[in-house]
Amino acid sequence: MTAVRMFTQADVEPAVLTDCVVAVVGYGSQGHAHALNLRDSGVPVVVGLRPEGNSFEAARRAGFEVLPVAEAVKRAGLVAVLIPDMAQPAVYREAIAPNLRPGAALLFAHGFNVHFGQIKPPAATDVILVAPKSPGAMLRREYQRGQGVPSLVGVHQDPSGHALELALAYAHALGSTRAGVLETTFADETETDLFGEQAVLCGGLSALIKAGFETLVDAGYAPELAYFECLHEMKLIVDLVYAGGLAGMRAGVSDTAEYGDYVSGERVIGDAARQAMRAILADVRSGAFAERWTKEAARGGPEFKRIRQREREHAIEQVGQRLRARMAWLSEAD
Ligand code: NAD
Ligand code: MG
Repeated sequence: MTAVRMFTQADVEPAVLTDCVVAVVGYGSQGHAHALNLRDSGVPVVVGLRPEGNSFEAARRAGFEVLPVAEAVKRAGLVAVLIPDMAQPAVYREAIAPNLRPGAALLFAHGFNVHFGQIKPPAATDVILVAPKSPGAMLRREYQRGQGVPSLVGVHQDPSGHALELALAYAHALGSTRAGVLETTFADETETDLFGEQAVLCGGLSALIKAGFETLVDAGYAPELAYFECLHEMKLIVDLVYAGGLAGMRAGVSDTAEYGDYVSGERVIGDAARQAMRAILADVRSGAFAERWTKEAARGGPEFKRIRQREREHAIEQVGQRLRARMAWLSEAD
């Protein structure tokens, strides 16, 4: 096991950024939050977007100078690449690389394209990672509350000798030093992120919910009961885990639920599931998943769209729509 360095406010030299224009390329989930937090932290920001894209007007309304990507890049000492991962290689090739100023640095919020070689920056360019551990909306909200969300920082190339300093100053401007900034590498961030979303957070969780729901419904129980038990109550449990770890969750449920947890959890996630997790991790590390996803995206995502449609038609979504419509407070939460 490797120990990880944690940085705080005391490790930051904010001035590194205040005399450097940051081009935020993309104004979606991460892009809008980065641009706004950086600006509020006193960092000069220009936003780079396709003039015909949906977010051009949104960024302009927020008061930013919004330019085509190539023009924004020409102005910048640091280019933050915050468009979807599958769109990045082409935009990098066509608009970023040819316009990068000598000495300008490149920043990513996820290591995917650099780690898997889809983007290969010139050796003279600093290449850094600042990956907030939350969606953009929360990154922005916590900053406005005077708090922050944790970020991971990493350095892929450091010809200037100041790449880590730059990453720390950026993470600080996002508000992350208030919560904790952890040092990692592009490889570790990319591999753990892909593994986590596939095996645990998105893939594992949705498969667990659906399997529990189907088991109850197949045994003759009402789909409404199965929905509440296997999906709706998930949030209550996850909130307890989030706030107090597994022990905090177990302290918050009944002794009966806690005992059932101890004797039955491993029957669901046992040796077979662990073996599957190791296989998923192997596909992530070998690049097999990255290759499959890159090819799929290049084809226009036929498999992606087919499975998305099939999943939308699952019985749990039908019953869920009906039940959620009666719980007005759900759509007010985020
Ligand atoms: P997003 O889908 O929200 O971003 C869309 C933005 O990119 C829009 O402004 C859109 O107009 C622009 N865009 C799309 N295609 C473009 C193109 N070809 N040229 C120019 N602009 C284009 O993306 P996101 O979820 O914010 O992800 C951005 C990066 O942040 C990714 O590397 C992602 O892995 C990483 N990340 C995301 C999250 C998250 O919670 N969303 C968390 C951590 C890291
Ligand atoms: Mg993630």
